[in-house]
Amino acid sequence: MTETTKPLPIPSELAQPFWDALRENELKLQQCQGCSVHIHPPKIICPRCHGRRFEWARVKPTGHVYSYTIVHRAPIPAFKPDVPYAVALVDIEGTEARLLSNLLAPLDQIQVGMPVDLVFDKASDDITLFRFKPAAPAVPSKGEA
Ligand SMILES: [Zn+2]
Repeated sequence: MTETTKPLPIPSELAQPFWDALRENELKLQQCQGCSVHIHPPKIICPRCHGRRFEWARVKPTGHVYSYTIVHRAPIPAFKPDVPYAVALVDIEGTEARLLSNLLAPLDQIQVGMPVDLVFDKASDDITLFRFKPAAPAVPSKGEA
């Protein structure tokens, strides 16, 4: 890795199914079989009911911005060409999970609560990253002006 190479995640055994799903362009979250809560990042004990049985549930890759920040100072030299950029916490639709990643949007148009779609960004044969972009506007049905 050179100074200009961005580091890639090294999935833990616990999180591997999350990354396997991303590689298939799907979003799957750990879901407790005791209380049905979706958990991210993955855990060995459910934070709500202390259950230990989980499945990996496919969820809709959309959500709403819970909060965001604009990064003006690159954390490492490899990110220098990208600044300023937005990082957002996104509430994933239909779950209690909140994911953190880049929000690819004009910085002056980002708002808390804005709807976003998750996009898959293949970074290597093993790793597909996820980012967010503003949700595509709803297509009006026929008959609407
Ligand atoms: Zn639970």
